[in-house]
Amino acid sequence: MFSTKGDNIFNSLRYKLTVWFSIIFTAVFFLIFFIIHLSVRNHLYNLSDANLLKQVKRQLWLGYTPDITPDFIKDINEAFAFISSKEGSSDVFYIFLDSTYRTITSSSLEHWQGLRLDSTSIPFLPDKPGKDQIKLFLDSHSNKKNSAAVIPLNHEFRSHTILQTEKINGRDDKIRIAFQYFNNKCLFITGVSLQDNEDFMLIVRRLFLILYVLLQAVVIVLVYIFTTKTLDGVENVKNTAIKIGKKGFGHRVPYQNETNEIKGLAKAFNEMLGRIERLMKEQKDMTRNIAHDLRSPITSIRGIAETSLNSHPSVNDYEFMTGKIIDNCDRLIHLINSMLDISDIESGNFTLKTQRINIQNILVECYEIYKAISDEKNIKFRLQKIDKSIFIRGDKQLLQRAFGNLVDNALKFTNTGGTVEVEAETSSNQVKICIRDNGSGISKKAQKHIFERFYRVDKSRSVDGSGLGLSLAEAYIKYQKGRIEVESEEGKGSSFIIYLPLD
Ligand code: ADP
Repeated sequence: MFSTKGDNIFNSLRYKLTVWFSIIFTAVFFLIFFIIHLSVRNHLYNLSDANLLKQVKRQLWLGYTPDITPDFIKDINEAFAFISSKEGSSDVFYIFLDSTYRTITSSSLEHWQGLRLDSTSIPFLPDKPGKDQIKLFLDSHSNKKNSAAVIPLNHEFRSHTILQTEKINGRDDKIRIAFQYFNNKCLFITGVSLQDNEDFMLIVRRLFLILYVLLQAVVIVLVYIFTTKTLDGVENVKNTAIKIGKKGFGHRVPYQNETNEIKGLAKAFNEMLGRIERLMKEQKDMTRNIAHDLRSPITSIRGIAETSLNSHPSVNDYEFMTGKIIDNCDRLIHLINSMLDISDIESGNFTLKTQRINIQNILVECYEIYKAISDEKNIKFRLQKIDKSIFIRGDKQLLQRAFGNLVDNALKFTNTGGTVEVEAETSSNQVKICIRDNGSGISKKAQKHIFERFYRVDKSRSVDGSGLGLSLAEAYIKYQKGRIEVESEEGKGSSFIIYLPLD
């Protein structure tokens, strides 16, 4: 899925997820297997022990038998005949020893040749002593190492049954053996083969192994399907990106029943595409507008130069033409400066020279710059009463440019005899600066676009301008954490309102 031609499958997310799930599954499975195996094994061994103890308990009457007589032996043999016939002589045995470890009677020991019935292999009661302890005991009592020493059957040795698991010569299976003393008369030993238990455990292990292989296969298939489905959304994003690379920005990532994360990714990707598409369009428009705006003054300068060459102009004409060239050059310089500002804003290259600024001062400065133009156009330009103590923190130069653009527009789009007013007041923790005119006004439709780059309302094409002033003013104000709004009515005038946070 993710492996386009040449990609390494082992490096794919799907492969890695599958491996991780398999590892986790294996670990959990074997933990469960271990617990079950242990408890089943314990249970089986407990059952074997319980059977052995049952046999031992059946012989308790021996403790009260006065002597070991032939009748006594007969009784014992009868009691065990049934068990032997049921279990089989290779799976179970019993032996009665007297207090000197001589065999009184036993079941058939044909399959139990390896049993050692001397004092070194028969444990003490109630503890289970090691061989060293037995040796010590024997040494202290008989001083003959390998003889069948008589171990005095003290009272405390008789109260418990000892259970031991042994391996005996000539047999592959393990044997569980119970030892029980009865008074001083005899020692009862019975044992069972644990082969059935081991066989059963082998079956359990095999079943678990088969189950593991089957479940592991199911897990791999499920994880494969699950990851494929889940990552389908990511695949769509990738395919869309490839399509866009080949065919352009018209494509979007489809999503419907995807998970929230994938939907989020697809939405974010589509939004990003939308933004890129808009930016590309803006870029195209901008290039066209720049070309257009550069062409006009350059064409004009070329025309003037051609006229001066061909028509032998007078000094007055030269002066006039030079004035025109200067005007066009100013337009070009203004345009180039605006474009440089835009480029700085877009690249985030602006280093704000922030300082504490008195709003009254900056507006008075702006007023003084534009007063001459308003006088020229016979427009009533007024600076309303502004509180001296309104301070903000910002970049003075950028604010001057923003206010300048707005005042310049107000004067540009207001006819002779009109009014342009500037006022500032504080409201809560911000200052509200309003530049109001009663000029041409802006239609509701146009108001939505005037902050876009190069946007100029059609009828204002006759008026000088690049369509960059408002978008720059807005960017400058945003840089100072402020905002700008417009209220306007066509034919009645416009108000541009700036909000800036107070210092
Ligand atoms: P321009 O360089 O054309 O002035 P701006 O971005 O400053 O570019 O303004 C965009 C357009 O918004 C202008 O072309 C004009 O149509 C309109 N506009 C801006 N300010 C005013 C105003 N005070 N009165 C009427 N129209 C305005």
